[in-house]
This record gives sequence, structure tokens and C-alpha cells, in this order.
Amino acid sequence: MTPAEKLIEKHRLTKEEYIALIGMAEDKDTRDLLRTEAVRLRQKYYGNKVFTRGLIEFTNYCKNNCYYCGIRRDNRNVSRYRLTKEEILTCCREGYRLGFRTFVLQGGEDPYFTDERTVEIIRAVKEAHSDCALTLSIGEKSYESYRRYREAGADRYLLRHETANEAHYGMLHPTSMSLAARKKCLYDLKALGYQVGAGFMVGSPGQTAETLADDLVFLGELQPQMVGIGPFLPHHETRFADKEAGSVELTLFLLSVIRILLPTVLLPATTALGTADPKGRERGILAGANVVMPNLSPLRNRKQYELYDNKICTGDEAAECCMCLAGRMKSVGYRLVEERGDALF
Ligand code: SAH
Repeated sequence: MTPAEKLIEKHRLTKEEYIALIGMAEDKDTRDLLRTEAVRLRQKYYGNKVFTRGLIEFTNYCKNNCYYCGIRRDNRNVSRYRLTKEEILTCCREGYRLGFRTFVLQGGEDPYFTDERTVEIIRAVKEAHSDCALTLSIGEKSYESYRRYREAGADRYLLRHETANEAHYGMLHPTSMSLAARKKCLYDLKALGYQVGAGFMVGSPGQTAETLADDLVFLGELQPQMVGIGPFLPHHETRFADKEAGSVELTLFLLSVIRILLPTVLLPATTALGTADPKGRERGILAGANVVMPNLSPLRNRKQYELYDNKICTGDEAAECCMCLAGRMKSVGYRLVEERGDALF
């Protein structure tokens, strides 16, 4: 049995088998086989529905210094902003009108947003939109902080693990950060009953078939409800400015692999994928993804939340983004739905 056939049968491989599978990522038959199975599974659980998440990038201040990230602390050439609670609520109101039933509050790790302030925002959003899910993506916090956010009404949490390989983690992050701390956060979030999202960049500097195999083994262990992956894209103000962007083809291949590994996973066709390829998000859906995350941030701040160069949709109103995405999804036989889109398990 080939590794691809075994993945389809068992939904799980050993590290060595994942390495062999990734080694076949350029083989057309292997790709087609996995894509077909991924689409079959996605169809079985979700039909042709695509869920939307309204992304609100509410602060680009960050105390961390991740080497790949455009809003890292040491980048002095980005003008910093943070939204007020009222501005966040305005984004949600507009999003609700456009049909969003999930809001994602994402930001750098900004100490201005103390637990008190964060809780106040969570409460306000949930009070205004009790039929919506609220997702946080604000980095590493203590168990106690996560507990308070959950109690205030947060439903989900996105925290990509970035790489599950210790040595590789060290190549992407300063020594103040660690894979162990990242993993602990993910397990804390699960224990608190959040729907949890992990994930990684494809083609980040230093990534190999082995580190990717570690990522897939880790996803199998963690069993997250959501997985975010997208190609690494260089940002000119980082040490990786001259590194090559991650491969779109490998990203699509891995989307199919992850759909088979975690059949009911909520899997976005990310903005990074749409940036790397003009048809990236459509192709992501056709590879097994079932979520898109249009931007609801105020137009004037869009450019300032540039994690990587040439990020798309920084000049479009939220309404335009929705129309555009709805058309894109329709063009490949899928439809955006006005639902929370919770995890099935
Ligand atoms: N501070 C939050 C949000 C991080 S930004 C947190 O720590 O979780 C969300 C994701 O963008 C990151 O997890 C990372 O995987 C991705 N990202 C950052 N820089 C990137 C780049 N240069 N190319 C592609 N993706 C990037």
C-alpha cells in the first residue's frame, strides 16, 4: 500500500510515512487521489457550503518578535494602531449586516489589551450578537486568562503552532518563545472547551519534509477543530525578506492531507493562499478547504496589518470583499452560507 492509500484508509500515518507521502507531493496521481478523497469527505460532512469568518484585525502592536512577521516588535517602519471597543463593534455590526455569524478578533500580543479590557470587548460583542460565534486569535496567554475570556463568552481560539519541530521553531522565533509554551497554550484552550485552531506556514525558512511530518503528527495528537495553513510569504522588514515564498502546490496538497487526517476539520482557504495565487482561495476549496475569512477591519487600517508583503484585499470595503468571494466560490460550485459554522465534534 502506498502512503496515500494508507492515509485514506487509516486517516493517520507514522512520521516516517508522512515523510514518504510529502516526498510524493509532486506526483500527479498521488495528488489527484488525495484531492478526490478530500473533496469526498468535505462533501460528506459539509456539502457545498463554505463558512465565512469576519476577520477584525484590532491591533498591530506586538510584544513578540517572530522572525517572519511584518508586525514584529522590532519593525520600526510600521505605523501602529489599535481599535477601540466602539470601532470593533462597528465592524461587527457591518459584518452582521453582510451575513457573518462568526467574528474573529485577531491581533499582535498587545499588552494594552489587559484581561479586563479583553473581557469587556468579548462581553460587548457577544451581547450585541448573541447568535454569533466569537473567535480570538491574540497569542499566548495564561490558563487563567484563557479561562476568563471563555467565561466572558469566547467560543473559539486560533493559535497556529507554526512548526512542531523544536529546532525549526528556534529558527523562526527568538529564544523568549518556545514550542513547549505554544503547545501548552493549545492544550489549555482545549481543556477549557474552546474550539481550537492550530496550523503552520508552508515553506517557512528551514522547513523540510521532516518538520512537516512533525506538524502532521502533532495535528493528529492535538485533534484541533480548525487548522490554518497558508504559504509563507516574505515581508521586506524581516530577516527573511529575501527568502522564497512557500509553494502554492504544496499548500494545496497539504490541505487535502489535513482534510483526510481530520475529516470534519474547519479548514480555511487563507488570505495568504489568495495572495500567492490569484485563484488560490478557489483552489484551496477545491483541495478540501471549507472556510474563508474575509477582512472586516476598517479600510484605513488594512495596510497597517501587513504580516507579509502584497497582502490582498487591503483596499476593498468589507462589502466588496464579500461580493467578490461569493462570486469566486460560486464559480467553482460552492456557496457562502450565513451560519456560525461550528465544529461538528
Ligand atoms: N499574534 C497572534 C496572531 C498571529 S498572525 C498569534 O500569535 O497567534 C496569524 C498568523 O499569520 C500567524 O500565526 C502566522 O502563521 C501567519 N503569518 C505571520 N507572518 C507570516 C508571513 N510572513 N507569511 C505567511 N504567514 C504569516
